[in-house]
Amino acid sequence: MSAPASRPRDDAPDALSVLNSVFGLPGFRGAQEQIVRHVTGGGNCLVLMPTGGGKSLCYQLPSLLREGCGIVVSPLIALMRDQVAGLLEAGVNAAVLNSTLTFAESSEVERRLLAGDLDVLYVAPERLLTPRCLNLLGQAKIALFAIDEAHCVSQWGHDFRPEYIGLSAIAERFPDVPRIALTATADEMTRKEIVARLGLDGAPSFVASFDRPNIRYEIVEKQNAPAQLKAFIEERHAGDAGIVYCLSRAKVEDTAVALTRAGIPALPYHAGLEPGVRARNQDRFINEDGVVIVATIAFGMGIDKPDVRFVAHLDLPKSIEAYYQETGRAGRDGKPSSAWMTYGLSDIVQQRRMIDESTGSDAFKRISIGKLDALVALAETAGCRRSRLLGYFGEDATSGNCGNCDNCLSPPQLRDGKVAAQKFLSCAYRTGQRFGAMHLIDVLVGRLTERVTQFGHDKLSVFGIGAELNEKQWRAVVRQLVAMGHLQADSEAFGALKLTESARGVLKGETEVMLREAPAGTRVRASRTRSRRGDLAPRAEGKPADAGLAATLRAWRSEIARKRNVPAYVVLHDATIDGIAAARPASLNDLRNIAGIGDKKLEHYGEELIALVRSAGT
Ligand code: ADP
Ligand code: ZN
Repeated sequence: MSAPASRPRDDAPDALSVLNSVFGLPGFRGAQEQIVRHVTGGGNCLVLMPTGGGKSLCYQLPSLLREGCGIVVSPLIALMRDQVAGLLEAGVNAAVLNSTLTFAESSEVERRLLAGDLDVLYVAPERLLTPRCLNLLGQAKIALFAIDEAHCVSQWGHDFRPEYIGLSAIAERFPDVPRIALTATADEMTRKEIVARLGLDGAPSFVASFDRPNIRYEIVEKQNAPAQLKAFIEERHAGDAGIVYCLSRAKVEDTAVALTRAGIPALPYHAGLEPGVRARNQDRFINEDGVVIVATIAFGMGIDKPDVRFVAHLDLPKSIEAYYQETGRAGRDGKPSSAWMTYGLSDIVQQRRMIDESTGSDAFKRISIGKLDALVALAETAGCRRSRLLGYFGEDATSGNCGNCDNCLSPPQLRDGKVAAQKFLSCAYRTGQRFGAMHLIDVLVGRLTERVTQFGHDKLSVFGIGAELNEKQWRAVVRQLVAMGHLQADSEAFGALKLTESARGVLKGETEVMLREAPAGTRVRASRTRSRRGDLAPRAEGKPADAGLAATLRAWRSEIARKRNVPAYVVLHDATIDGIAAARPASLNDLRNIAGIGDKKLEHYGEELIALVRSAGT
């Protein structure tokens, strides 16, 4: 049985006017318009857009423009809940079907679907694939299927979800209903898997630029990570919501405690926490203003919070894909945000060890090592980080100077590092390629440690030949040699550094080695990513927001959000608050012109907002 094919509604209003009246937005962004038109017309497609790019509208609008209900498959309950809350706020008939509903609640949703009373229905994949649900969908009028986070079908990817594999049933059972698959993971292999599994052969792909211009990338050398993190938050993101990623549960706990002691409201999140605690911490992060969550990578997927102002990494992720996805959780709302990472040689060794000790096949390990190498190269580059990132995803890095990463803002000095490189490589070679960086540096600077004497390394010709650099500088040299691929951190012997094929060229003096100077202190201190809350001026609009009014509006928003038990951003986005605080609308008409105020919000909050603006004086 297959649903009767749906089509654009006869009385269909045009996309732009729905965008405006329902979502309160003045225009489309990038490829949105093309995608909306394509899907509304009944076409299948694949949408690749970065986080914050505006994927939701690509299926929400066609759901409203076509006959029947749009079915959105989404992997995470929290995400579904918040999306539905946002849609209801905008006056869209939205609902969800997942394991959190009682039987009576599910039956009511099912009834509404069959009665044609729903515009958008979010369904968990495992739920959708039950015979009961497939049958139900067979009887309903379906506008489209949207498969969000479509990369979850990829077995090679980092978010693989077995239940996504079964989604191929959609194309088989409902061949005439348009399918739109959406993801922020762009690599070629994943793309192909999505197309194959979801039956999208021949359908167009809409690929948006993956640039996130509002995110400032910054990677600093690890010295005292907790102190560095604290300084970063205090100096640049006081009072902001942010995510701090660590590899281990213990480190998550320790970091959350340390931040809390420093007066920064921080909560832990990892798989070892009791589910209730975990859910509560996540809710507080989403619903309250300015909470920092310290988490393992288990946290974040499906977190739709638009006003995360920073993502900090205290440990190295395992690939550029993972780094980009995690940092991408900052600044969905387009406002200035930071992606900050502290990393050191030990991080490379640790990640290497995790790969070597994993149970994956040799092919899998080889791919993993390649991915790690690419990330280390990003961390050590002296060039624009954004260009590197975009280049990695196959996008042309146009200017090579983005003006919004640490290397562009304060370009590192480069010097000829051939001699230093040769000294280090020969030291590793002469000691048998069995030692880690620490010992090799001891030998080079001529330190008579117990180990140095034990192995007789004080008798070698390389002993003490590197005294012109200090330990910190040598560490920078080592990291760069690893990043350039002349050295490899081998984890068979704990972090032993081995020469690679290309090291020969360096030792012979045939290969140039330019090294970046280890900067003296913390860099990029001068330019704060954003000013304090309140005096931030939305970049698009010329006028600065009125700080006092913005604070009043925020307080009002928190109150409403608490009463209605929805996240604050579901009531109004930060950008909308700032828009109001800048424009100080005096009438409902003026208010309606502010991005984020659609018909329903105007109806619900219009009078109150105008009164707040008025009472805030001039
Ligand atoms: P994604 O799902 O791609 O991560 P969302 O759909 O959540 O992104 O959109 C991210 C943010 O961008 C939201 O705050 C949304 O309101 C905003 N947005 C999306 N499209 C537009 C648009 N055309 N004009 C203005 N803001 C938009
Ligand atoms: Zn740059």
